Amino acid sequence: MDFAWSKNQKDLKEAAVKFAESKLNDKFIEKEERGEFSYQGWKACADFGLQGMLIPKAYGGMELNPLDIVAVLEGIGYGCRDSGLLFSINAHIWACELPIYHFGTEEQKQKYLPGLCQGQSIGANAMTEPDSGSDVYGLRTTATEEKDGFVLNGSKMFITNAPVADLFVVYARSGASKGFSGITCFIIEKGTEGLMVGKEFKKMGLRTSPMSDVAFQQCRVPKNNVVGKIGSGAIIFSDSMEWERTFILSYCIGVMERQWEACLKYAKLRKTGEKPIGKQQAVANKIVEMRVRLETSRLILYKAAWLKNIKKSAVTDSAIAKLYVSEAYVNNMRDAVQIFGGYGYMVEYGLERELRDALASTIYSGTSEIQKNIIGAFSGL
Ligand SMILES: Cc1cc2nc3c(=O)[nH]c(=O)nc-3n(C[C@H](O)[C@H](O)[C@H](O)COP(=O)(O)OP(=O)(O)OC[C@H]3O[C@@H](n4cnc5c(N)ncnc54)[C@H](O)[C@@H]3O)c2cc1C
Repeated sequence: MDFAWSKNQKDLKEAAVKFAESKLNDKFIEKEERGEFSYQGWKACADFGLQGMLIPKAYGGMELNPLDIVAVLEGIGYGCRDSGLLFSINAHIWACELPIYHFGTEEQKQKYLPGLCQGQSIGANAMTEPDSGSDVYGLRTTATEEKDGFVLNGSKMFITNAPVADLFVVYARSGASKGFSGITCFIIEKGTEGLMVGKEFKKMGLRTSPMSDVAFQQCRVPKNNVVGKIGSGAIIFSDSMEWERTFILSYCIGVMERQWEACLKYAKLRKTGEKPIGKQQAVANKIVEMRVRLETSRLILYKAAWLKNIKKSAVTDSAIAKLYVSEAYVNNMRDAVQIFGGYGYMVEYGLERELRDALASTIYSGTSEIQKNIIGAFSGL
């Protein structure tokens, strides 16, 4: 067992921190207040290689291995205040690029991956529906087969990037059977007749990550745009979720590290009476607990990423990572606000924003309750 990062991985992380600090934080508080998605930040990240980290060089990517990807994302999270942008990029990578890369035809990979890697097109993933979120395979959007393709009807809910997306990976029921089988995965391009993108939602956090609903009304999709086999959509979605749950919180580890350092520094400087607050055991304990949650989050997430690195299944480990790291992230952000007292509650300090952003993490990619169901089921319960 080796717990050390290689020199190359340390360099990757350091480069990511420097890039994020210098290119992604400009006028961020105002942008967050306006809920403004940063096309400039998106392009800068693509130029840095972020959107193409996973994808082979042949399709315009960086071809990094899963552990290198964790090192980069952790560094980006440490340096970047715009968690909405980072969340949007993660949704793009794990739920749009990855299914095309793992299950798409050669023609689809050549057509779509270079633009997705290089920042020319933005991807979204549409699975959740108004009446099926946790009950994910209860989806009702239909895909009716006709001569040259499929006709989609139905609606999708909470779709990250939808207002700015050029490409949607969409799951719909193409067969009569219910549940896991009979679902097909499609690529639908922006501007396709019958694809309707709703008004942008206002959210509690991740405000710079645009989201809306999406509807399909007699939306015709050619057969060439089916991803994988007809009826294999649930397998594609599960694969994509296993990767997403492993990696999507990597940047949050970087945020947790930055906040932990800020709290430590503040607890040494801020005095009540003659004593720094860090000398109060109640405050010191909070800082220690934050550190323990940060370090355990790392170990759990790295293990899941290592399994993907050696090309092993990580269904349970990715659910454990998603559950543990998201809960730790929320708890650490809440403790950070508390340690800073009244200042922690003020917008200028950025801590209330980090808490609002963190709260979404126990909901997206499957709620904490659903991760527990998965871990329980794979434990034989
Ligand atoms: C910021 C954000 C981004 C998102 N981006 C996308 C996206 O890009 N694409 C997409 O398709 N979806 C996206 N979603 C949707 C997300 O996947 C769903 O919100 C999530 O799966 C929960 O579904 P729901 O909202 O319908 O809640 P429900 O399923 O209605 O759940 C409500 C509550 O009941 C609990 N619950 C439900 N069923 C069970 C059960 N069987 N056992 C135990 N507890 C249960 C849940 O844990 C939750 O606490 C996003 C959501 C958020 C918040």
